[in-house]
Amino acid sequence: MSHDSPAAFLPDGDVYLRRRADLWSSPELEGLDAFLVTASIHHRYLCGFSGSSAHLVLTRDGSRFLTDGRYTEQSAHEVRETDIVIVDGPLRNFLGDHLKSWWKVGFEAGRMTIAELKLLEESCPGITWIPVTDCMERLRAVKDEHEIASLRGAATIACQVLGHVASGVEPGQSEREIVGELEGNLRKAGSEGSAFEPIVVSGPGGSRPHGKASDRVVREGECLTIDFGAILNGYHSDLTRTFVPGAPVDEFLEWQGVLDRAIEAALAFIEPGIPCQELDRVARAVIDAAGFGEYFVHNLGHGIGLEVHEAPHLSRTSAGSLAVGMVFTIEPGIYVPGHGGMRIEEDVLMTENGPELLTRFTRSLALPEPESISNRLLGAE
Ligand code: ZN
Ligand code: ZN
Repeated sequence: MSHDSPAAFLPDGDVYLRRRADLWSSPELEGLDAFLVTASIHHRYLCGFSGSSAHLVLTRDGSRFLTDGRYTEQSAHEVRETDIVIVDGPLRNFLGDHLKSWWKVGFEAGRMTIAELKLLEESCPGITWIPVTDCMERLRAVKDEHEIASLRGAATIACQVLGHVASGVEPGQSEREIVGELEGNLRKAGSEGSAFEPIVVSGPGGSRPHGKASDRVVREGECLTIDFGAILNGYHSDLTRTFVPGAPVDEFLEWQGVLDRAIEAALAFIEPGIPCQELDRVARAVIDAAGFGEYFVHNLGHGIGLEVHEAPHLSRTSAGSLAVGMVFTIEPGIYVPGHGGMRIEEDVLMTENGPELLTRFTRSLALPEPESISNRLLGAE
């Protein structure tokens, strides 16, 4: 496995101060005295902490990070521009020390259970808890430089690992063995782990877009779909290719051509400000025109970042539009029940000048040759 894979790196503290300033200028936080951040991914986004079991209390003029003794060392190393408070006992019991009893305090309503809210209310009498939704998700949809560099690195790792693993695939190997190869090589290449459990499906099983890998062995002439991703600095890539070991029949070559044209049509259409649903429509029209419309059964794509599915959502009904700094997938597929399926998925960065592909890997159905991996990483056919 390659040793020149992108390595993890931390942003400087200014990055977090900028993100918090953007957060406080959100309409959802208007009139609030404080915002309680409970989601782990948002701790990472707003102060750098990558562990669990913490509360981040943001006020307009400062921030407190509450965690317990298990994270003393880790929080000192990771948390930036924030006062760290190590407590002994349930975190909510110490919130009152940092919030005034007459305050209005926002909480992450989409990330908390009703039982957790009840406990909060009991531990902090007097405080008015205000549900806040969508605000963090909207901010996170537009990536800053550190995030773009992280996503670029995660996409590069996925391409390196796919080149390595796919070039070693042989008929007779099981889907599950290939999952193991992907997971092991992701770690070796510097990924924090799998972005999600890799999808490896072959033959008729390929008609299930999110099928689970089984003991089924890969056979010559059948489609083999691999969908997986890397994680760098907490940021997820998401890459799919379908291969056909041996010589593909004309039908599979036709599918590949349709999906390739759908991706190219989407890329040609992408520019800042276009409605997300228009992008879905443009790619879907190519598949419809080829007569496979009924077999493309999911949305065109989704944002990637600290979560593997996040804003923007590229579907027939999504309301948003594309902004510079968004990073998202384009993943058309054809799934014929009982027969087989194929998907090609790219990760794309919206720049001022148009789309930039972060995943650079051939869309050919042929399994890559080991010696040509470096060429394929450069996008050569
Ligand atoms: Zn995927
Ligand atoms: Zn995806």
